[in-house]
Amino acid sequence: MLKKKGIEPGAGQATYEGRDAFMKACLEAAASQFALDGASFYEFDEKSGLLRLRLRHAFGVTFEHEENLRPAPGSAAARSLESLEAATSKGPGGSFLYSPFRFDYCDPSGGRGVVPCFGLVRLERSPRKRGFTKAESAKADAYLRSFLRDYYKAEFFSLNRKYEKNVSAITELTEVFATALRMGDSFKHILSGIQTYFGFDRVRLYLIDEKNRKLKGELSADIRGQVKSISYEEIPLEAGAHRFADIVLGRSSGAFMERYKDCVLYMPLAVQGVTIGLLIVDNLLSQQRIEPQELAMLKSFGGQIALAVDNSRLFDKVEELSLYDELTKLPLRRYFNQRFQEEFYRAERFKQPLAMIWADIDFFKEVNDTYGHQIGDKVLKEAGRVILSNLRKIDFPCRYGGDEIVILLPQATGLEAQRLAQRLSSELAELRIPVPFSTARELRVTMSIGVSTFPQDASTMDSLLEKADDALYWVKSHGRGKIALYSEIAEEKKQAEPAGGTTNAPAK
Ligand code: GH3
Ligand code: MG
Repeated sequence: MLKKKGIEPGAGQATYEGRDAFMKACLEAAASQFALDGASFYEFDEKSGLLRLRLRHAFGVTFEHEENLRPAPGSAAARSLESLEAATSKGPGGSFLYSPFRFDYCDPSGGRGVVPCFGLVRLERSPRKRGFTKAESAKADAYLRSFLRDYYKAEFFSLNRKYEKNVSAITELTEVFATALRMGDSFKHILSGIQTYFGFDRVRLYLIDEKNRKLKGELSADIRGQVKSISYEEIPLEAGAHRFADIVLGRSSGAFMERYKDCVLYMPLAVQGVTIGLLIVDNLLSQQRIEPQELAMLKSFGGQIALAVDNSRLFDKVEELSLYDELTKLPLRRYFNQRFQEEFYRAERFKQPLAMIWADIDFFKEVNDTYGHQIGDKVLKEAGRVILSNLRKIDFPCRYGGDEIVILLPQATGLEAQRLAQRLSSELAELRIPVPFSTARELRVTMSIGVSTFPQDASTMDSLLEKADDALYWVKSHGRGKIALYSEIAEEKKQAEPAGGTTNAPAK
């Protein structure tokens, strides 16, 4: 409770915080006001009935001193504690004036919250000096009481401020955690929220990969609000392998540890007793100590943070398991593969054609790099809309990955597939995507498309895909923004090759 910040070299005296700093000032002021030889601050432990000395001022210095007093029944100390009035005594040991106090204070470590404090201040004069007169006692007692009242007011005020700050941070962070899922990039929002509301220099998140027994770096949010992936950091989840692993495995001294001059805090994240990751906050850049109150507040948020992180993780998993892509609304690869098998089997069995379109947005990386990912997402969303609005019921599109989209066209010939591809291509080219804050104002995109057909170009599923990809590759290497049928490029290749050459599709 008595918070010593350590003895600074040459300073010779410990520095005190909060209540003890105040009591030190109180004892020193009283000592000089009332010509004292000593002044002591005792806390009364009601359970044991002991008066415990907290601080003592004598010979011009204030220091901690271990001393327990059991007030004898009827003694001045006992009378004062009982009546909550000042009481005096005089004897061979000197003259004493006991002034009682009772107030609440905020535990600086934050762990105990508001703590009641009951005790006595004892003013002392040596036996050689005169005792405390009645008038003097009343004056000293009033002086001490007003001193303590001021402290109480100051403490109450700062408590109130702390409380207000906590409430607003709790409200805002809870909102951040709740909306994180809806906004996508949920880890990013959670980390930025913690970084912003607590004002740490850096917040890092590591998640446990149970399957591979690893602690994997996820994200880091820094003082400038930049969020970066730290997925290159992988720590084996083995005792003794790394400090982080030990903390997560619970081999360290406690769930909370302070390191590097109190600037770093490690917080294992647990949901229903299962550790899911590790949050590390630090002020290493500014070398600011993480205050006990911040620690307490972060601790009280621990459960919520862990839950928010766990929810995001689950959300990603569920999305992975779902059949449709959230952005383009197109089916995902897993769903596509299943349908592809069915359609290919049908085509083979009923001897029907099956066409495959493979489309890829041109220079899409540049769109992201120039206008940002949000605009990139908008392009993908629009591409998905254009595709879905142009397909027949039996056609089956898929976001194959990134900016690549494949479409399965049952019962369609190469020519029919080409016609559809042309429609998609020109509709996409007509799109004007607004780009705010840019001189270009609007963005146009094109798509390169490769087409292959069963049974003309390929006799297996794999080769149907491969041939569509080959045709796409051909467009990409011939100026982009066009459509190529595999049958045409294969023919063109064959003609370009010297007699006796291979008839392989263009190499990748
Ligand atoms: P090319 O004309 O050769 O296709 O060039 P490109 O720039 O389009 O290159 P590529 O197809 O390899 O780039 C795909 C980019 O798509 C890279 C990746 O950052 C971006 N990307 C993938 N998925 C998403 C997404 O969901 N949203 C956004 N905004 N970008 C994505
Ligand atoms: Mg592309």
